[in-house]
Amino acid sequence: CGIVGYIGNQDAKEILLKGLEKLEYRGYDSAGIAVKNESSVQVFKAKGRIADLRRVVNVSATANTGIGHTRWATHGVPNHENAHPHQSTSGRLTLVHNGVIENYAILKRDYLDGVAFNSDTDTEVIVQLIEKFVNEGHDVEAAFILTLKLLKGSYALALLDNQNDDTIFVAKNKSPLLIGVGNDFNVIASDAMAMIQVTDQYVELMDKEIVILTKENVTIKNLDGQEMIRSPYTAELDA
Ligand code: GLU
Repeated sequence: CGIVGYIGNQDAKEILLKGLEKLEYRGYDSAGIAVKNESSVQVFKAKGRIADLRRVVNVSATANTGIGHTRWATHGVPNHENAHPHQSTSGRLTLVHNGVIENYAILKRDYLDGVAFNSDTDTEVIVQLIEKFVNEGHDVEAAFILTLKLLKGSYALALLDNQNDDTIFVAKNKSPLLIGVGNDFNVIASDAMAMIQVTDQYVELMDKEIVILTKENVTIKNLDGQEMIRSPYTAELDA
């Protein structure tokens, strides 16, 4: 239902939790965050409210990169296993998703035979597909694009790779997602409301675009790998 992300120099978990709280009014059944510190990614999730998630987040999990999610279940009951973020089998890739993948069952059957799934979500198919392409020798960006080309449906996605320092991979199709631009940090939000307290500068994404986000750069590409240049606009919301 909602997505947030942060990459910069500050404590990511606090910014993510505050951002998710701003999205609570939209309704959700569970929530989670993943924070990345060098090559280690920690995932925290909870069925219920952001207050429940806050209780399970390890206060010592200090990290400068992270992604967060509020879930409105479409595939799989609201529970801990089905809450996002979802990880690939090896644990290398961590993903949050808003939307619905209409062809997830076909993709699972055709590409992921033998893969052990940890959830009943359509979302897990995405992260397992990216890992499959990585295992076949593609880098994460290429594997992400190959996967996006197979998906039918709606998605806003944010992906962490624990072997890729300080990058969040982002994509969208028919689900809202914005990039918030800061000084030495960048953020992701499904709604500018979530991050208006940290920046009022936003870059709009178009359907079927990906973003390679670092704390300094916002690189937008289409699925042919062609770079798209777009300037930020000033969002006028009350913080
Ligand atoms: N389809 C996904 C799920 O059921 C994402 C739902 C959402 O947008 O929150 O987990």
